[in-house]
Amino acid sequence: MLDLSTRDIKFLSGVGPARAKTLNQELKIYSLQDLIYYFPYKYVDRSRIYSIAELSGSMPFVQLKGQIINISSIGEGRKKRLVARFTDGTGFIDLIWFRGVKYVQDSLKVRHDYIIFGKPTVFNGQVNMAHPDMEDATEVQLSTLGLKPYYNTTEKMKRTSMNSQSIERLMKAAVDLLQYPIPETLPDYIIAKYKLMPLQQALRCIHFPTNAIELRNAQYRLKFEELFYIQLNILTYSKERQLKYRGFLFSKVGNHFNDFFHNHLPFELTGAQKRVLKEIRKDMGSGIQMNRLLQGDVGSGKTLVALMSMFIALDNNYQACMMAPTEILATQHYETIMEFLEGMDIRVELLTGSTKKKDRERILSGLASGEVQIILGTHALLENTVVFKLLGLAVIDEQHRFGVAQRARLWVKNESMPHILVMTATPIPRTLAMTLYGDLEVSVIDELPPGRKPIQTIHLFDNRKKSLYKMINDQLTLGRQIYFVFPLIEESEKIDLKNLEQGYAWIKEDFPGYEVVKIHGKMKPAEKDAQMNLFASGQAHIMVATTVIEVGVNVPNASVMVIENAERFGLSQLHQLRGRVGRGADQSYCILVTSYKLSEVTRKRIEIMVDTNDGFEIAEADLKLRGPGDLEGTQQSGVAFDLKIADIGKDGQLLQYVRGIASEIIEADPHRNSPVNQVLWLELQKQRKNQNDWSAIS
Ligand code: ADP
Ligand code: MG
Repeated sequence: MLDLSTRDIKFLSGVGPARAKTLNQELKIYSLQDLIYYFPYKYVDRSRIYSIAELSGSMPFVQLKGQIINISSIGEGRKKRLVARFTDGTGFIDLIWFRGVKYVQDSLKVRHDYIIFGKPTVFNGQVNMAHPDMEDATEVQLSTLGLKPYYNTTEKMKRTSMNSQSIERLMKAAVDLLQYPIPETLPDYIIAKYKLMPLQQALRCIHFPTNAIELRNAQYRLKFEELFYIQLNILTYSKERQLKYRGFLFSKVGNHFNDFFHNHLPFELTGAQKRVLKEIRKDMGSGIQMNRLLQGDVGSGKTLVALMSMFIALDNNYQACMMAPTEILATQHYETIMEFLEGMDIRVELLTGSTKKKDRERILSGLASGEVQIILGTHALLENTVVFKLLGLAVIDEQHRFGVAQRARLWVKNESMPHILVMTATPIPRTLAMTLYGDLEVSVIDELPPGRKPIQTIHLFDNRKKSLYKMINDQLTLGRQIYFVFPLIEESEKIDLKNLEQGYAWIKEDFPGYEVVKIHGKMKPAEKDAQMNLFASGQAHIMVATTVIEVGVNVPNASVMVIENAERFGLSQLHQLRGRVGRGADQSYCILVTSYKLSEVTRKRIEIMVDTNDGFEIAEADLKLRGPGDLEGTQQSGVAFDLKIADIGKDGQLLQYVRGIASEIIEADPHRNSPVNQVLWLELQKQRKNQNDWSAIS
């Protein structure tokens, strides 16, 4: 058997040390296997030959067969170009080269049959083709031309004249070696049952398909395999963990829960909240440690679900904690929860970086003795000095702000792992959630509390500020409050303060008689909180801020969210910001202010925002516009996407399908001793060795 992974690329014919180095450095291709798994990004149908007579300027890439009748170079110095007159007997076109003139001139032969390939353009009534691919017609067998593969190359590679065509040539040599048998990576019964193309054939056809059907079958086989192993990995991992950690058994729902539900809950739970609570109760009562991701759009009432889940922990004599990414958020949780708990005898504390030493000591000893039943806080909860008597449930809010390692520190605090509830308002499309958090169960709150009016979103160009002022004035007169958000330079500590300060100045000037506060990330927490409180209590009417308000801030009387330079925000960020309004019963507005000039993608983003309030729809659109690697939040969570062929945005159905198959296999062969599956576990082991164990995400 030929083992592609142990064959160094430099021994492939046509490679040599210099090219091997380029392939190593630019594409991380070291072995024959790496090369063969470097798949084309597109294909062009080369099974048809066009005639010059039928060409027009609106055609895509076409293929012609004919001869060059003369070659001349025109112009001087940097303007120098090479023009070759080409005919196929039905007409004439000019082939033009601006670069590599000398090389091309030396290699072209006059009155010799070529198959050429390029995009026709029309200039002054004359058809031209710039930088066509030239192939010697005597070397090309038309019947086997089929679809021509195109490979991505880097700028550096192009400079050393390694283009798609040169990779194609190397690939031909590599694929020739596939005449020797290579090990199959899926069991025979799976290949037969799901009618998959064998690996050997798929690897050949993915590079040199002779027709579209063959290509589709090869792609399907390789995508199937890629997604299948991702799911098999995650699912076996979670199975292993279930066997290793028994979960705390919360067998009863008792006084805390019932008292709250019957005597203190100020409103009806929504249907979605009830459903999700049932799911959580079932998990925590199963004896298996819960790992649940709770997704719900901003304002959908996740905090309440978290609180009621914590009651169940308390009812079973366990403690509960809830961790938020920022001090403002943690404080707000604390205040909200204290309000809910009025009249109930439950000890709740707040622990953050700025908790005073004396309070801290009191809280810590209360936690250790078990007197503190619920603790809310920031990362401060993760410090070694924080010791619980018995932590039964950890709720993590806005999970993408926390790294994997940080979260892991929560459960070494116990003899056993507490139940984990991760809450996020960033709606992660189901397909992506399955890849990212395949071992988390997912609950969704897909219903807002009643009485909320959908937020109206309006797009304004920044030269139309007059109508904006009028609208804001109307709202202020009605007693409502307003947010103005200015962008911040992402990924950097530095804030676009100038923008914010200028905005602050003109807003103060334009709305005299109203109190304006300002907050940004560079302010001290105490200062920030003071400004925040002025706004939350209604003493201030307008808040000018950077995206620090993105997460969690809850002021139901605020009815307008103005986002300046909206073109500089990502879709899910815009949606998060918009979620700050529409929390009361009044009609709320989100106003996206942009400059007049917008790129195609930006215009799409704004359109989607104006069209829908549905976070999941927005997340799906975001995924399509940007691709999964860019999705906000995925980067911070430390997940490296290295999909070679599948596309999370497009192959969602296949992902779900193979997840089912993987799950069946694990159920049927839990001890992994069925001989027919040996291929699977071996391959899984190989793949695990090659990657960080990013499935250990929760
Ligand atoms: P999230 O954290 O999901 O963004 P919150 O938990 O902050 O949402 O809830 C938003 C607001 O809705 C809060 O003021 C909360 O008290 C209120 N709320 C939650 N559930 C309900 C409900 N079932 N009916 C009415 N109001 C609710
Ligand atoms: Mg919240």
